[in-house]
Amino acid sequence: MKILTILGARPQFIKAAALSAEIAKHQDVEEIIIHTGQHFDANMSEVFFEQMGIPKPDYNLNINSLSHGAMTGRMLEKIEALIIKEQPDWVVVYGDTNSTIAGALAAKKLHVKVAHIEAGLRSFDMKMPEEINRILTDQISNILFCPTETAVQNLKNEGFLIKPVKIIKSGDIMFDSVLLFKQKMKAPGFSLPDQFVLATVHRQENTDDLNRLKKIMQALNRLHEEGQPIILPLHPRTRNILKKENIPLSFEPVSPVGYLEMLYLLEHAQFVITDSGGLQKEAYFFGKYCITLRDSTEWIELVDHHFNTLINFDRDIYTQIKEVSHTKVNHHDELYGKGNTAEIIVHELKNYEV
Ligand code: UDP
Repeated sequence: MKILTILGARPQFIKAAALSAEIAKHQDVEEIIIHTGQHFDANMSEVFFEQMGIPKPDYNLNINSLSHGAMTGRMLEKIEALIIKEQPDWVVVYGDTNSTIAGALAAKKLHVKVAHIEAGLRSFDMKMPEEINRILTDQISNILFCPTETAVQNLKNEGFLIKPVKIIKSGDIMFDSVLLFKQKMKAPGFSLPDQFVLATVHRQENTDDLNRLKKIMQALNRLHEEGQPIILPLHPRTRNILKKENIPLSFEPVSPVGYLEMLYLLEHAQFVITDSGGLQKEAYFFGKYCITLRDSTEWIELVDHHFNTLINFDRDIYTQIKEVSHTKVNHHDELYGKGNTAEIIVHELKNYEV
């Protein structure tokens, strides 16, 4: 069996690490990797391949820094040619980026089966590019690997049960990655205070809305000024916008860190403030409370279980952080599966029958 994996963005490398490790155990499965180039800085891409032992991509398309339409269009064209060349049995796509929808669409039009990992998630906010990508990818996938029960329910609500597709509640592959790499976590190269808050900000709904971005940075500045150390590994997009718009930070952010360093930061942080999808779950895996800088989340079970709170941007952010930051997270049952998602996925792909 030949699998063509489409990768492009940081969270996809982290998810793919677990699946590639599982595929490598199967002599009868070959994996070809296309890196679209969506994320290209060494600390946004290369470091994950090195640290996590992901096989070197067979193809690098080097498509980045373009508008959504231009990026997706160019990826579609290049991926189509490679699918024709490689003739895979499956095209595997992850999550909700432009690389995801481009890979799925190219494959589907060539009648190649599509497997979507992280299917069924919904934020119910069609202004988010991620929501558009994930809904469209689900529509053209043959097998939908859902990380949560909520995701399965979302697909049922959208009428997927009457379609000739397979829906598998596989658990969350990011949990596999945490379990695989937790033992190898390492301290970052910069000095760390004993206690700190871990923060990340990169989602378009925050970076492209200067009012929201300013509110977030003001809240982080205020926390820092009252003596709360903050570690903010800053995404290149956010760094560029802060600089261009002259939005001040009263503390020094750090560069994006590798996955092993991120696991170390999660282990030692007091709590997490983020707009990241993946980090919300990782905070939970490490028993840390998460304050989410978004109006909605596709990881709604975390909010339902009081492990996570969504920020209301009409209220003062700092005040909301202070209200919840001491909340304890009592690790729950298996909200995200057992950490054997990669095994389930490979088994399903090998044994697929229409
Ligand atoms: N991450 C990392 N280094 C960083 C910031 C994030 O390794 O400096 C990891 C994080 O632990 C998580 C993933 O990147 O596994 C999340 O990616 P991101 O926040 O870029 O995307 P999202 O999850 O929002 O799609």
